[in-house]
Amino acid sequence: MQALVKTGLDYICPGCFKLFSDPNACYSHCRKEGDEGDDIHKGLGLITKKDFPKFLRCYRVAIGFQIEERALPLGEGPGRRSYHECFSVEFVLNNCVAKREIIDAMRLAVIKI
Ligand SMILES: [Zn+2]
Repeated sequence: MQALVKTGLDYICPGCFKLFSDPNACYSHCRKEGDEGDDIHKGLGLITKKDFPKFLRCYRVAIGFQIEERALPLGEGPGRRSYHECFSVEFVLNNCVAKREIIDAMRLAVIKI
């Protein structure tokens, strides 16, 4: 876990556990997968306020449990929210995911980079 954080890849796609160096790369990834027909990724790539319910639904599926909205580290802004922190490796691993197989999947994702 510590080793992962030190790679400089601080953001993670909760849909497939790919790692990214910045949140925009993570969004592009989600939108690209979404365009190719993956509904969970599509939802994760939504950043407008009006799409928040869909984002939350997909985020819950991706991380594997019904996280409370208030437990998410959401930023505020006019017309949109910043979800950057919801994709930080630290948040996803420390607060959301405690499953062994997911940690293993992450290691595989790191090896592929
Ligand atoms: Zn992904």
